Amino acid sequence: MTDYSEIEGKLLAKQKELSDRLETTQATEGHEVEEGLDSNAQLWEVSEVRDGLDDEAAQELNQVNDALARLEAGEYGYCKSCGNQIGSARLDALPYATLCIDCAEESEAPEAFDPNEY
Ligand SMILES: [Zn+2]
Repeated sequence: MTDYSEIEGKLLAKQKELSDRLETTQATEGHEVEEGLDSNAQLWEVSEVRDGLDDEAAQELNQVNDALARLEAGEYGYCKSCGNQIGSARLDALPYATLCIDCAEESEAPEAFDPNEY
């Protein structure tokens, strides 16, 4: 059985980082609404951007949690699509990858499009 303890450490660090980020953005929300009564238009834009970041972080956190759950279940490291083992170099670069490189290349192109970036 492959030892994923290093990857598990990475995932746990990522999980903490993302939850911290989400908590921080949520904690500052009320404050800015109170202070910015005279610049609502600008505030609205700021919160739009932040919502985008929150979504991204929340989505990534889901993937991290999913990967940790699969680690625990002993299902980690296998492609969800074809069942082959995902290469360790790929897991190193993307610890919560659910597809092997072949399946990812086939399906990733449309998924990789992020409307928040355009
Ligand atoms: Zn595959």
